[in-house]
Amino acid sequence: MATRTAATRTQKGATFDSVSPATGEVLGSYPLQGEPEARAAVVAAREAALWWSSLGFAGRRTRLKAWAAHLARHLDELVEVVHRENGKPRSDAALEASLAIDHVAWAAKNAGKVLREKRVPSGLVALNQTATLAYPPLGVIGVIGPWNYPVFTPMGSIAYALAAGNAVVFKPSEHTPGVGEWLVRSFEQAVPGPPVLQLLTGDGGAGAALCRAGVDKLAFTGSAATGRKVMAACAEGLVPVLMELGGKDAMVVAEDADLEAAVDAALWGGMSNAGQTCAGIERVYVVDPLYDPFVRRLVERAGELRAGEHYGPITMPGQVDVIRRHLADAVARGGRVLVGGSIEGNLVEPTVLVDVPEDSAAVQEETFGPTLTVARVADLDEAVRLTNGTAYGLSASVFSRRRGREVARRLRTGMASVNDVIAFASVPSLPFGGVGASGFGRIHGADGLREFARPQAVTSQRFALPRPVASFRRDARTDKLLATMVTLLHGRG
Ligand code: NDP
Repeated sequence: MATRTAATRTQKGATFDSVSPATGEVLGSYPLQGEPEARAAVVAAREAALWWSSLGFAGRRTRLKAWAAHLARHLDELVEVVHRENGKPRSDAALEASLAIDHVAWAAKNAGKVLREKRVPSGLVALNQTATLAYPPLGVIGVIGPWNYPVFTPMGSIAYALAAGNAVVFKPSEHTPGVGEWLVRSFEQAVPGPPVLQLLTGDGGAGAALCRAGVDKLAFTGSAATGRKVMAACAEGLVPVLMELGGKDAMVVAEDADLEAAVDAALWGGMSNAGQTCAGIERVYVVDPLYDPFVRRLVERAGELRAGEHYGPITMPGQVDVIRRHLADAVARGGRVLVGGSIEGNLVEPTVLVDVPEDSAAVQEETFGPTLTVARVADLDEAVRLTNGTAYGLSASVFSRRRGREVARRLRTGMASVNDVIAFASVPSLPFGGVGASGFGRIHGADGLREFARPQAVTSQRFALPRPVASFRRDARTDKLLATMVTLLHGRG
C-alpha cells in the first residue's frame, strides 16, 4: 500500500495533480485557478441565473429530475471516480452517491411547494391588507466542498441552491477535483444550456477568491479553522455564509439499549469512511450496568475490521498526524488502547480507547480517524452533560428502548438518531447542520431550500381604511381605536 499524499502540487505551471491515496497514481491534472477565474465564473453565472430562474419551479424541476436520472444511470462511473480519488470502498461510494441523488430528486420535487408565493394571515390591525410571502432566489451561490464525502456533502448545497433558482459556482477540495469535475460535466450533459453550474478548481486560494468574487451567498463545508477564514473573507463584502463544519459526535447507550445494535452502530458510525465523517461517532457514553458488556463486544467486533479492507486510507496526509497526536495524548494521560492503535502509512487500524480524560484532545477535538473513546457514566443525565461538553454540536446517536427521543431532545446538536446512527442524513426532508463550532445554517429539507432564497414580504392594500393608520391624517380617535383593539387582542395575556 502506497503512502503517498492524496494530492501534490507540481511545478508544471498553474496546475495541480490529484493523486490516489491508495496507490499514489496521478489521476489527473487540474488548473490552479484564482481570482480572475472566480470573477469570470460569477459574471457568467449571474447571466445564467436569469435564464434558470425564469424557468420557474416546474421548468427547473424537469431539468433537475433529468440530472438525477442521469446520475442514477451513470452511478457506476461516479462510484469509480469517487473510489479512485478519495480511496473509499466502492460500496461506500455507491451509498454516498445514491443518497446524494435522492436529495437532488427531493429538492427538485419540493422547491415549488416550499418556496412559491403564499398568502399569510394579515392580522386584525392590517385587515385591509393581503399579505404574501415568497422566496425568490439569491442569484449566484458559491459552494466550497470537502473531500471526505465529495458527492453527498456539496450536493446538499448545490442541489438545493439550484432548485431554489440560483446559479452555482462550485470549488471542490483540491483532494477531489475529479469528482467535482465529473458532477459539473454530468449536469451539463443532462441540462444543456447556459452555465448554471460551474467548476472552479484549485487549492484554498481558489476558495478564498470565490468568497470575494461577488457571490450572493457562500455555502462552505469543511473544518472550523477554514470556516473562520471563509467568514472573514466574506465579511469584507457582507456576503452571507452557510457554515457546515466539523463535529465531535457522541453516542449515548442507555441501560435499556439493544447492546448488539448499539455496538454495530458505534462501529459503523466510528470506523466507516475511516472515521472521516463530520457526523461520525467519535465518543461513546455507556450507562454503568451496560458498560463492561458493551466494551467487551465492541472490542471483539472492532478486532474483526481491517483498515484497507473494510474502509480506506486516511485521505489527507496531514490528518494522520492529528490522529497520532490524539492517541499519544490520550495514552500519556492514562487512556488505554483496547484494540488497534497502530498506524501504517495512511492506514489506521480500528481503535478503541477507554479511561481517556474528558478534557483531552481525543475527547474534545475532531479526530477524524477510525477511533472511538468509550466512557462509563452513572446515568443518562451524566451522558447528556458530557455529550454536550464540547465546542461542537453537529449530531448524536442515542440507544435506548424507552427514553431515546427524550434524551435526543436534550442534546445541544442539530441532529440526532435514536437506535440508529447518522440516519437523519438519509432523510431529504430533514434539515442538516449544527450549532457552536459545528457551524450554522442548514442544508437539506425545507430549511435547506430557504437557505438559498430571500424571504420577500409583500402587502397589497385591498381597501382603504376609513381612518388611515400610517398617515399624517391619523387622528386622536384612530389612536384610541388602535389602543382599544390592542387591549382587546392582547390585554388579557
Ligand atoms: P478544509 O476546511 O480543509 O477545506 C474545506 C474546503 O475549503 C476545501 O475545498 C478547501 O480547499 C477550501 N479552503 C481551504 N482554505 C480556504 C480558504 N482560505 N478560503 C476558502 N476556502 C478554503 O476541510 P476538509 O476538506 O479537510 O474537510 C474536512 C472537514 O470538513 C472536517 O472538519 C469535517 O468535519 C468537515 N465536514 C463537515 C460536514 C458538515 O456537513 N458539517 C460534512 C463533511 C465534512 P482545498 O482542499 O483545496 O485546500
